[in-house]
Amino acid sequence: MFHEHRVTTRKEHVCIGCQFRFPPKVTLWKRAYVFDGGFHSDYLCEICYKFLHKNRRDFCDGFEEGELFWEGWRHDADFISQWLSKNKPLSVLKGKKVIA
Ligand SMILES: [Zn+2]
Repeated sequence: MFHEHRVTTRKEHVCIGCQFRFPPKVTLWKRAYVFDGGFHSDYLCEICYKFLHKNRRDFCDGFEEGELFWEGWRHDADFISQWLSKNKPLSVLKGKKVIA
């Protein structure tokens, strides 16, 4: 049970994939799912979302929070530099395992 859709954020959010902190009014993917009997939601930035979908099979066991920064961000330099010119991610945090 998994739902995801694109949103324009109203608050600051941290991308679960790369752990950059995004200011309000950027486009992120909001994911909602039931896990361990509870309702959860998190956010993915466009870069992590794209990478995760392209490589979903590699992440069937989930990924560590922040792991997609190392895995995803290095692959698509043109897209990333364009995207960064419009979106300003802030600091990187540390994290824990989440589902993919
Ligand atoms: Zn991200």
